[in-house]
Amino acid sequence: MRDGNALPEHLEPIGERERFSFLCHPAIACFGECCRRLRLMLTPYDVVRLREGLKLPSREFIERFTIMEFRPPSYVPVLFLKMEEGGDQTCPFLSKEGCSVYSHRPSACRIYPVARATRYHSVHGVLMESFFLVKEPHCRGFEESREWNIFEWFSDQGLEKYHRLNDEWTRIVMSPKLKGGLTAHQQELFYMATYELGMFRKLVSSPKFRNAFGINDGIGEEDDERLLDFGLKWLAFSLLGETETLQQGKGGP
Ligand code: SF4
Ligand code: SF4
Repeated sequence: MRDGNALPEHLEPIGERERFSFLCHPAIACFGECCRRLRLMLTPYDVVRLREGLKLPSREFIERFTIMEFRPPSYVPVLFLKMEEGGDQTCPFLSKEGCSVYSHRPSACRIYPVARATRYHSVHGVLMESFFLVKEPHCRGFEESREWNIFEWFSDQGLEKYHRLNDEWTRIVMSPKLKGGLTAHQQELFYMATYELGMFRKLVSSPKFRNAFGINDGIGEEDDERLLDFGLKWLAFSLLGETETLQQGKGGP
């Protein structure tokens, strides 16, 4: 019997230098099983990368592929991938050959079968990480002989860039300063600066916004990754009162 504080049975803690055996490949018996019956949260950077692969503007991607929820306690808008309707709730990107957006797949798909929990030290404010193996019964990858440690796995899966932007987004979403809940107007701004970058680009390009925040370089006119980076700094400034982050984000005083 499990008590209320115990980890779910399929989660196994693992140290960052410990080794584990795992390999996922098209010939494995369970191929594609993990792309069904899942609830897949999309971080803002996941959306940037998926849109890049699918060559879709933000609004069209959001309308076609996502469902929005407001998550307590801050009631920040968060997007989830809309699964295909029907019994298996299959990911819309699963094809006979496997993942059709493989080079642009979301961070949750990259990190699997590892889970990473993060929190910020209450005194020093540094990011603290802990890791788990997700040993679900359907996944046969653990029977393979290829060995990794956690950081080798992250590097192989191209996760470093995802972690940087995902961690900053999570830090804002989980901030105790937002625990009273966002107003409807703040929710709109949050949504725009994280997911609806087409709309955010228009705001950032306006002379009024650029004058108000002292922006004097090309933020927002180039790539979405840079615009999202700026959007997170702008939210940290506007919602958490962190002036120094915006100074760094705008490319100079
Ligand atoms: S269930 Fe595991 S081994 Fe099978 S396809 Fe998914 S990740 Fe790969
Ligand atoms: S995005 Fe690709 S890897 Fe992720 S659930 Fe969908 S098909 Fe599977």
